[in-house]
Amino acid sequence: MATESPAKRKCAGGDCDKDAGTLQCPTCLKLGMKESYFCSQDCFKRNWATHKAVHKSQSSFLSNILTPKVVSEPDPDNPWPNFSYTGTLRPKYPLTPRRDVPKSIPHPDYWRDGIPHSEQTFKGRTRIDILDKKQQEGMRKVCRLAREVLDIAAAAAVPGVTTDYIDELVHKACLERDSYPSPLNYGHFPKSVCTSPNEVICHGIPDQRVLVDGDILNIDVTLYHGGFHGDLNETYYIGDKAKADPESVRVVETARECLDEAIKLVKPGALYRDYGNVIEKHAKNKKCSVIRTYCGHGINSLFHCSPSIPHYAKNKSVGAAKEGVCFTIEPMIALGSYRDKTWPDDWTSVTIDGKRTAQFEHTLLVTEDGVEILTARLPNSPGGPVPMPGAVVETNGETNGAAH
Ligand SMILES: [Zn+2]
Ligand SMILES: [Zn+2]
Repeated sequence: MATESPAKRKCAGGDCDKDAGTLQCPTCLKLGMKESYFCSQDCFKRNWATHKAVHKSQSSFLSNILTPKVVSEPDPDNPWPNFSYTGTLRPKYPLTPRRDVPKSIPHPDYWRDGIPHSEQTFKGRTRIDILDKKQQEGMRKVCRLAREVLDIAAAAAVPGVTTDYIDELVHKACLERDSYPSPLNYGHFPKSVCTSPNEVICHGIPDQRVLVDGDILNIDVTLYHGGFHGDLNETYYIGDKAKADPESVRVVETARECLDEAIKLVKPGALYRDYGNVIEKHAKNKKCSVIRTYCGHGINSLFHCSPSIPHYAKNKSVGAAKEGVCFTIEPMIALGSYRDKTWPDDWTSVTIDGKRTAQFEHTLLVTEDGVEILTARLPNSPGGPVPMPGAVVETNGETNGAAH
């Protein structure tokens, strides 16, 4: 039996006769009501005062059969009015409905109830898997696909688009590659990709916020294909303004270099605790700090498993790399404090002082004598390093020194 085509829905805005888009009122969703699609964010906001009356009738109906409860009505521009934000970024609701993945694409074990059961076994938590040649080939394949999907998302990350649009692109690109977007419902994460602008450290939820010239944006993509996960992320400059902002360039390029420096150490016998030492050393040189709450991780048929890879110095991670192990390094670097705070959505992690932060991530395979970067950039990958704006060239130094 077919469901009603979204194209036939009418906007629920009282003063609007347009067709509905995919935006749904979150309160209606929560109350289990139907037909609450709107044509646009603006229309939803404009009609909020009248639309919310619908919730009242439903909740008073419910209160007759259930214990009376206060039903909150989130302001689309400020869903958590009592939350003290650390910076200027705000969520922009409503989120679009959960996207579907066809049954024909193999799903990871958490897709339905949100719980990664296989990661919670003894094996997932403590054993470090050594992959055989066939499994390594599986990792190679999914990581190549993940790179393709990240590049598609990155090419679309320009001023004027919403992060939800990037989520839609990532979702579709995954399905085209017979892949499940790993973040979707992982621990109940609601979307197919993490999008983290400006002061968001990681795990940002794609929403209706429009990217503006001057933003920086991390896009973190993971695919599940052929029984394996491939995970990578990069931070991109949105528009030319961001590339001309020395502070943004400092934090983004430092994060990029920190990952590159750490990867240089990877080979059999290298200690998992040592990556943090080179990362923090480089970050400090650039007057940046290293986020401590989130770590790199083992990755294979499990999205997250042993080993744990902290990015800060003097950490106590146990063990050494062995040929055939796959793990990620994904340093998060901040302009100000390393301390973080999480939004009431239970995902979005932001810097405590609201200053900018950047991250880069690769999935790595330890080889006989070194490392293979499974998610390596391709010759035509968008993004890449940019020079420090207004960088002082050597001759300037001489001029200054010669002043008399
Ligand atoms: Zn990761
Ligand atoms: Zn990732």
